[in-house]
Amino acid sequence: MSTPLEQRIRARIRETGPISVAEYMTLCLLDPVDGYYPTRDPLGSDGDFITAPEISQIFGECLGLWAVQSWEDMGRPESFNLVELGPGRGVMMADILRVVSLEPACKAACSVVLIEASPALQAVQAKTLGRSGFQVMWADRIEALSVEPTLIIGNEYLDCLPVRQFICTDPFAGDKGWSERRVGADDNGLRFETDGQPISEATAALFPGTHETPKLDDLLEVCPAAEQLTDHLATLFSMAPGRALFIDYGPETSSFGDTLQALKRHEKVGVFEAPGDTDLTARVDFEGLSSLAETAGLDVQGPDTQRAFLSRLGLELRAVALLRAHPDAKPKLARQLHRLTDEDEMGTLFKAICLSAKGLPHPLGFA
Ligand code: SAH
Repeated sequence: MSTPLEQRIRARIRETGPISVAEYMTLCLLDPVDGYYPTRDPLGSDGDFITAPEISQIFGECLGLWAVQSWEDMGRPESFNLVELGPGRGVMMADILRVVSLEPACKAACSVVLIEASPALQAVQAKTLGRSGFQVMWADRIEALSVEPTLIIGNEYLDCLPVRQFICTDPFAGDKGWSERRVGADDNGLRFETDGQPISEATAALFPGTHETPKLDDLLEVCPAAEQLTDHLATLFSMAPGRALFIDYGPETSSFGDTLQALKRHEKVGVFEAPGDTDLTARVDFEGLSSLAETAGLDVQGPDTQRAFLSRLGLELRAVALLRAHPDAKPKLARQLHRLTDEDEMGTLFKAICLSAKGLPHPLGFA
């Protein structure tokens, strides 16, 4: 059954032609009337997907430790912004703030800023953080942040940034050997198509340059919003010390392949099955991101596996402490740790990467 958003996308394609995969993702995820995030709270076991902070409070608590140490690393500034990108239900920030509260000078210095595109989730965040003891502000975009020492955290944020897709039509023709894959429509619904036309030089300039030599029909994903993000972080962190930590799923090195996926009730479904009604993500190209960040003038640590990162932040010690207080919770806690760190769960598929202002001490959690 077609969704209202699908009807609108088809009308638009009829009028102005096929749209890029990035435009399709943006409409599906963020359309204010029919988009996925603005119209619901998608998280949790009753929702469509579950994230690390929703699995266990220990995840956010480890990040709280990371934040306090990073504040120390910035020279214990008297005021700093603690920013979360895409905070979901606000659960991770609540866990982080509990740890920040243990260091009164850090708490006094801390201004919490949430950047959230969904009004529905903003309301949930306000509720979750209402009793945190911190004043919480919302900003529309990171460009609106004040110039101050800044810590930025994003869990499963990068994977919902829109990607464009390109198909290799001639491996020996350089930039001219790529054509953009777009979303078109026929009588049966939406579908992928390419017109076989080579891309422009401006488009080729978006390619990260970290992939191997392509073969015919290889598919390359590019995330222009990740480049804008790293450029802005570099500008911000050149004016005041700062650091950004991202945790997400993706391989360590750049590779080809169509990774756009849709989730509904914890199951994969077709990306055109119910536009606006399913979560759409693409895996993160960590090697491409590192390269963009280094070019922009940032120091890069990682990517490291979530498992190694959390272990260095004391995940096991925190679990032992929790167990001492709640001995009955042992089976539940063991399940949570397994999901966060096991190789068959999130442990190695998920990675942490840290982008810092030049010259800060080595960040906690990274080898
Ligand atoms: N970090 C949370 C939620 C992850 S889901 C967790 O780990 O549980 C992705 C989050 O990013 C949602 O809150 C979604 O509304 C938000 N989001 C997606 N695209 C965004 C954008 N362009 N700007 C701001 N927030 C965005």
